[in-house]
Amino acid sequence: MANVADTKLYDILGVPPGATDNELKKAYRKLAKEYHPDKNPNAGDKFKEISFAYEVLSNPEKRELYDRYGEQGLREGSGGSGGMDDIFSHIFGGGLFSFMGNQSRSRNGRRRGEDMMHPLKVSLEDLYNGKTTKLQLSKNVLCSSCNGQGGKSGAVQKCSACRGRGVRIMIRQLAPGMVQQMQSVCSDCNGEGEVINEKDRCKKCEGKKVIKEVKILEVHVDKGMKHGQRITFTGEADQAPGVEPGDIVLLLQEKENEVFQREGNDLHMTHKIGLVEALCGFQFTFKHLDGRQIVVKYPPGKVIEPGCVRVVRGEGMPQYRNPFEKGDLYIKFDVQFPENNWISPEKLSELEDLLPSRPEVPPVIGDTEEVDLQEFDNTRGSGGGQRREAYNDSSDEESIHHGPGVQCAHQ
Ligand SMILES: [Zn+2]
Ligand SMILES: [Zn+2]
Repeated sequence: MANVADTKLYDILGVPPGATDNELKKAYRKLAKEYHPDKNPNAGDKFKEISFAYEVLSNPEKRELYDRYGEQGLREGSGGSGGMDDIFSHIFGGGLFSFMGNQSRSRNGRRRGEDMMHPLKVSLEDLYNGKTTKLQLSKNVLCSSCNGQGGKSGAVQKCSACRGRGVRIMIRQLAPGMVQQMQSVCSDCNGEGEVINEKDRCKKCEGKKVIKEVKILEVHVDKGMKHGQRITFTGEADQAPGVEPGDIVLLLQEKENEVFQREGNDLHMTHKIGLVEALCGFQFTFKHLDGRQIVVKYPPGKVIEPGCVRVVRGEGMPQYRNPFEKGDLYIKFDVQFPENNWISPEKLSELEDLLPSRPEVPPVIGDTEEVDLQEFDNTRGSGGGQRREAYNDSSDEESIHHGPGVQCAHQ
């Protein structure tokens, strides 16, 4: 029984914390006789207290909880049942709700209000260049007329019907030793736990202690901020009496951009070029996120293969808090080939003379069968696509299985 911090229940029975069961019983009997409501109607709740103290201390489990952890041990051990709470608040002050409130207490001991989260849509341009924007919102602030009291000083009284808890517990005896506990919202104070005299009620907030106020926040979106990043305004959320206001948190939502896709600090874009550009070099211009016209040059003699990617170093997004350092810009090239019959057959043979020469076709030995290559619509229904896939699979298999046979024919 080391470290007893709470001896209140022993004090009620007038015994020391180490008292034996017998001593407890004696003390209880003596006090119960003295304070029984039949004999002593003016003793108020004294009899209830004595009964409660004895109920706890005569039960080995409950006594151990109380000895070790005091009031809190009993509350947790009781599972927070409604009936216990009534007597708890009577003996120990406060109530179950104030106990539960501990969890959300801030460093300085005040309860902390909830944070308010707002999404903030921003364009990629805003995230590249940075932006200051004003955000208007409506929030609760303490009424300045009554200083958040709801009325003249002293006008607000703790509701006596529920002892300020907003709920009343009724215990109904169903049978000897069997009680039903019912909890209902206090009708005297409508669950507020307080009553205000009508004539002393604050006119401005009508006793609500807070009023709605329009607040304008200046939001700085810094260069390089990212989708999902938070901008916090500490203590700017709703105010309430006795509560430390939570934060307003803006959650950045990056809007899609028509030209650029972002990946961390890098940017990606796709650019279409023609066959002549792919083979003979090119130059093109695009508008960057800060409005600059960027000229991209690729010299004649260098070739762009369809679907390949080239990089421009240092033309990506600025780094957050280090905006002079930038990511890279990746450009994917979509090479557009000419249409069918875009050139006469004579010109085509002239072109062929200019292009790299064809590979030599090995002579065919034995029976052959000629087939047609046809165009087909790649995007048509999934069934066709699946069939094509299945066909490809089997042909792959064939080339694997029969591959060596074909090579044999060569030798
Ligand atoms: Zn009440
Ligand atoms: Zn007021």
